[in-house]
Amino acid sequence: MKKISLLILGTLLIICESTKTDARREPKSYKTCPICGMVRDSTWMNYTIYKNDTVWFCSTSDRADFINHPKKYASELK
Ligand SMILES: [Zn+2]
Repeated sequence: MKKISLLILGTLLIICESTKTDARREPKSYKTCPICGMVRDSTWMNYTIYKNDTVWFCSTSDRADFINHPKKYASELK
C-alpha cells in the first residue's frame, strides 16, 4: 500500500506543478537541498514553494529551517 500512496502523491505533485502559472517566468524546481547541499532524489517528499519555485528538502527539519529563514538560504538555491 505504501508504494501506491507514494505514486498518488507523486502524481498529485506533478499536477500541482503543471497547473501553476506565472506570467513573468517559468517556475523552477531546484535540484538540491539548500540547507545541506544534498542532491535531490526520487524519495524526497519535503518541499515548499518559494518565489513560485519548488524547493526540495532532504528532511522535514531542513524544510522547517528554510521556512523560518528563507533569506539566509536563498543564495544556496540551485
Ligand atoms: Zn538537507
